[in-house]
Order: sequence, then C-alpha cells, then structure tokens
Amino acid sequence: MDTLISAHSLVMDCSDNVDTRNQLNRLCLKHKVPLVSGAAIRFEGQVAVFTWEDDEPCYGCLSQLFGAQALSCVEAGIMSPVVGIIGATQALEAIKVVAGMGNSLKGQVMIFDGIESRWMTMKLPKLPGCNECAG
Ligand SMILES: [Zn+2]
Repeated sequence: MDTLISAHSLVMDCSDNVDTRNQLNRLCLKHKVPLVSGAAIRFEGQVAVFTWEDDEPCYGCLSQLFGAQALSCVEAGIMSPVVGIIGATQALEAIKVVAGMGNSLKGQVMIFDGIESRWMTMKLPKLPGCNECAG
C-alpha cells in the first residue's frame, strides 16, 4: 500500500474500520498525499480534509479528539442516503483539493446530522501529543 499511495495525488478514505483509517493516515502523512476522510454511521456522518501543511492536524488528531468509532456500520446500522451525502461531499472536496480551487475543509471537520438536517463545521486543532503527527 506504501507504493500505491505515494503514486497518487489524493486518497479518499471510504473505509469502514479504524485500522484501515489509521494506516491510510500514516501513509498519506508520510508521503504528503492529501487525504479526504469520510465516515458515516446511523444518521450521522463527517468529512475532513488533511493536506499536511504546517500546523495542520491529521486523522489521528481527529480520532483522539472525538474517540475512534468502535462500532461498525454492520453493528450500528447506517441510513443509506447518509452514505451518499458523505460520499458526494468527499468527492467535491477531492476535486477542489486536486484542482486547487475554492476553500477546502483542510484542518476542519464537517459533521452531518441527518436527523436534524444540519451541518456543523469546526476547526480541528493539531494535538501536541498526537500519536501520528506530533514531533
Ligand atoms: Zn495528528
């Protein structure tokens, strides 16, 4: 996977488990390949973009801040339209990052609440003690 990632200009994480997410984060950070992360469970989803600029957080910072999602979609369920919403948002962010246009979600996480039909965007801090990107 190391060689595969280094040969691409962007990676979209659409995986469904923590180990894969952490591995993609680690390899994208190592090769400075932008990472567009998406996750969805039940009626909720989130999208975050990591482009590895100075002082920018990584997926490890995000997961350590919010706690890694321990449940999978198989265990907790997923409302299928939420997957489409999150996937389309990831695609839009990927196009913007690759094309260098607009304002991407770099260093931020956008959270979708499908029950309340709301989006919330927050800036992510780079955690000084992050297991992946600190030091
Ligand atoms: Zn980090």
